[in-house]
Amino acid sequence: MKKGAILVLSGPSGSGKSTIINAASNEIGEYYFSISTTTRQPRVGEVDGVDYFFVSKESFKEDIEADNFLEYAEVHGNYYGTSLKPVQEAVEEGKLVIFDIDVQGHRLVRDKMNDITTSAFITPPTLKVLEKRLRARCTDDESVIVGRIKNAKNEVKAVSEYDFTIINDTVEQAREEFIIVAKAARLKQSREDEDKFTTQWLG
Ligand code: ADP
Ligand code: 5GP
Repeated sequence: MKKGAILVLSGPSGSGKSTIINAASNEIGEYYFSISTTTRQPRVGEVDGVDYFFVSKESFKEDIEADNFLEYAEVHGNYYGTSLKPVQEAVEEGKLVIFDIDVQGHRLVRDKMNDITTSAFITPPTLKVLEKRLRARCTDDESVIVGRIKNAKNEVKAVSEYDFTIINDTVEQAREEFIIVAKAARLKQSREDEDKFTTQWLG
């Protein structure tokens, strides 16, 4: 009876979202990771269709016009968006759908799919630690890092909008917390399911 659920993960770029999802992937059951579409350039090691669908601004704008996005936002001067169709299909199939999207995207998903959505904000213990990890990742030049830090200072203000906060101090501890959150997300009942359950339960 129960359809799928949505788990939104947000947090500053470099907070460890990809690291934590990868570390926990064998422990959270079958899930569908929503691959976003973006106009930003791929980083070294990133693969089109795996990390993101990398597209031109023109192509992204066509998708906006065609209403293909569940949500989209402009982050650090580039567009990022979640395609609606694969998400709908995965939810219909009863899967846990995981999003790595920013705070603007989280608000839009809440507006549209609140009753099946659980969310967690992931962050390193402090801004200083974030900065250190962004530099150690060696994927962005200095001006990009400065932009990401500036953005992080704003993003962290939205932490109270999320169901859970995961402080990524060690990967092992953040992984354990993430597994608990993913399990909780699966247990969340949609309004529709609650109504069906009550009707059946009453007999
Ligand atoms: P995001 O997906 O949120 O942008 P990443 O998963 O790419 O972040 O992590 C940013 C960098 O920090 C990567 O180089 C990653 O290896 C490192 N990192 C992630 N978690 C930790 C941690 N707990 N301790 C030390 N380094 C970490
Ligand atoms: P990055 O460039 O580091 O991969 O991502 C930058 C920011 O964009 C991160 O905060 C990430 O969560 C966010 N992001 C990635 N995909 C999407 C998306 O589809 N929609 C929205 N709103 N944000 C996204």
